[in-house]
Amino acid sequence: MMVQQFMKEFIMRHLILLFCLLTFITAGCLAQTGCTSKEYSKIESTKNPGLVQKAQDLESFIKNWSFYSEPRMVASGIEGNGLAVIKIPVVVHVLYNSVEQKITEEQVRSQLDVLNRDYRMLNTSVTELPDYFKSLAADCFIEFTPATIDPQGRPTRGIVWKKTNNSYFGSDDGIKFSRRGGDDAWDADRYLNIWVGKLSPGMVGYSSPIGASKEKDGIVLRYSAFGTLGTATAPYNLGRTAVHEIGHWLGLKHIWGDRFCGDDEVADTPPQKGPTPGCPSGVTAAACDNSASGSMYMNFMDVTYDACTNMFTNGQRDRMRALFAEGGPRHALLYSQGSSGPLLPMPVELPVDSFLIQSVIVYPNPADNTITVNTGAAGDLTGDRIRIHNHLGQLVLQSNITAKTMQLNISSFRNGLYYLKIGAKSKAYKLVKASLP
Ligand SMILES: [Zn+2]
Repeated sequence: MMVQQFMKEFIMRHLILLFCLLTFITAGCLAQTGCTSKEYSKIESTKNPGLVQKAQDLESFIKNWSFYSEPRMVASGIEGNGLAVIKIPVVVHVLYNSVEQKITEEQVRSQLDVLNRDYRMLNTSVTELPDYFKSLAADCFIEFTPATIDPQGRPTRGIVWKKTNNSYFGSDDGIKFSRRGGDDAWDADRYLNIWVGKLSPGMVGYSSPIGASKEKDGIVLRYSAFGTLGTATAPYNLGRTAVHEIGHWLGLKHIWGDRFCGDDEVADTPPQKGPTPGCPSGVTAAACDNSASGSMYMNFMDVTYDACTNMFTNGQRDRMRALFAEGGPRHALLYSQGSSGPLLPMPVELPVDSFLIQSVIVYPNPADNTITVNTGAAGDLTGDRIRIHNHLGQLVLQSNITAKTMQLNISSFRNGLYYLKIGAKSKAYKLVKASLP
């Protein structure tokens, strides 16, 4: 009887997975799990068989990694509070086809807040864990910072907004390529790329597998499953889809090991039959030898609704952090300078003297090495001063006006936004320095 029951569940599970895979290829299968990372990885592996080997190499790498072997990770060999915080610069590519999809900076920040809360175990719901899981809950000591310097060295706020003609994006990664209506990745050795947009019906999010090409490396999220406000929609309105997908991006598997009673390669997560739908409570029915505790459906790597997940385990933390060790696939990120500069201030429309708008011409703008300032129509400004400030308000160039048309050399400027002022009356004239590639 037990054997019959097992076979029945086994066959059902595989029929569902097969159904998911087929549906994903056409429209995305999300009704079952909310996450299509596994299906995406399978399809990518058929296109790039080298990924299978990379996945195996990763398992060997993690097995050989000792928790104490990476000096950058551990201060003085002290576990727990001695762990070094890993900071990951993040760029969010917002692709929008309608005004509604153009999510705000506030919504982007709300997502980063959730990541920094959940990866640092600062969420209050962790206190509601059942006693038998409490000791397993981990502060991963991983934080996410908005990129402040873009790949070209220009100041940035870590967000790219881009209008697209695509009404939605599918699982074929179009969202990751400018030539296909998406937006090109920033260097994956320096930034975590998060793409947000309207996805095929049913798709909520997916992550690239470890070893993916750099232009595809990152996570993709539906615009209504991102952050905690604005377009975020229940049951994916608490930012946990990104927490889950970044878990994959850092090498974690689904807690059920993506097969019936499978292995997620993490020792302290109990085995479970499969994904937990919805938002259960209490102890689930025992299965796969997890009778002591039932399923750990509150783990971020299950697919329970946002409101019902609240923990990574110590084992998951170690697995994620192993990727940053010397020779690991995320090691380069430790050396990223992507968040080392000051955040570009909020773009503000600075007032400009009306007579200057009409009578001073600055060109070209954006400019590379030289700008021409023509004050010919503004009357005699001889002796007035031209001043250029950077986005931090620092004076980077000044020159007296000696002729109606003057050229100024800005070749030494770093790429970015500057403010040009003329004389005492002038307030600001926006100038963009952009070196030609
Ligand atoms: Zn997943």
